[in-house]
Amino acid sequence: MENTNPLRRFYRDFEGYVAEKNTDSRKHMLQNRLPDYAFGMDMELRKRLDAIPKFYSLAQTICGTYANRMMHEINMTGVAVGPNQFPEIYAIGRDCARRLGIGVPNIYIISDPTLNAATMATDDIEPFIYLHSGIVERMTQGELRTVIGHECGHIQNKHTVYNLMAQLVISGAQAGGNIITGKVNALLSTGMLLALSRWERAAEVTCDRASVICADNVEDAISAQAKLMQGGMLGKDWKMDLDSLMRQFEQQKASTARLNELLFTHPSGLRRIAAIKIFSKCETLFGWRPEFRKPGMRVLSRDEAEQQCNEVVSLLSERDLHKGKRKNGMQ
Ligand SMILES: [Zn+2]
Repeated sequence: MENTNPLRRFYRDFEGYVAEKNTDSRKHMLQNRLPDYAFGMDMELRKRLDAIPKFYSLAQTICGTYANRMMHEINMTGVAVGPNQFPEIYAIGRDCARRLGIGVPNIYIISDPTLNAATMATDDIEPFIYLHSGIVERMTQGELRTVIGHECGHIQNKHTVYNLMAQLVISGAQAGGNIITGKVNALLSTGMLLALSRWERAAEVTCDRASVICADNVEDAISAQAKLMQGGMLGKDWKMDLDSLMRQFEQQKASTARLNELLFTHPSGLRRIAAIKIFSKCETLFGWRPEFRKPGMRVLSRDEAEQQCNEVVSLLSERDLHKGKRKNGMQ
């Protein structure tokens, strides 16, 4: 039955929550129970994180406590979206969930002028998305749909526990390890931070693909990214120019300072736009949204799209990465 109650519940079956809700989306699921649009690098790097002894169980334990506290805080300070409050946003959440074949997520709006949104879920807490008031205010309805679709992607791909763990480890490292327990401290190493950050960036690419699948059109997914970069200034009549953005991207790719991006948890907006452009021509997308295929378009196979996305997102060559792995002793 469809969940229409936006209030918090304990949810003991996250697997069930993300399980395919209709036969249409079931055909898009891979053997590993992840959707076929998931970025290969995301799945590959997650396998490496899972190979670290006790990583997932430790992450679950720590995140369970943290997510519960966070949920309470958001319920205290934000407004729950539902059929009677912000019904248009509730409808977008329901549409995105239906499109991807997951349960309808709880959505909250919290007072914050910055453009941001995030998702939380553990095996104990039903997934919830929170939107900053800034992003609701400055995005068009179409762009907001891509933002919520992106967050639903995190739920469907079961990123949330890893995301939270990554945030805790990274913020713990930046704060000198105060926030997290000694056990997590043991995981802190440059290699671990780099591995988590690299996985996080790959996971964002997966969810940007979910945003396109949920979108009214691909352009909304791209303009939402561009708005995140320029702040979605109110009162400015801005027309995005994709060619100018791609020229800016060429400069970014050519800069030797790009290695500073290694510790970033999100790919730059320009990398994300380039990856969305690639996915917009991929056969996998047309499996979900056949109407997005334009006549005469050269369609990319999944492998071609993966290779092109790898080039857009990777900051180091495979050779450099293997050198780094030996040095850090990472699996
Ligand atoms: Zn994300």
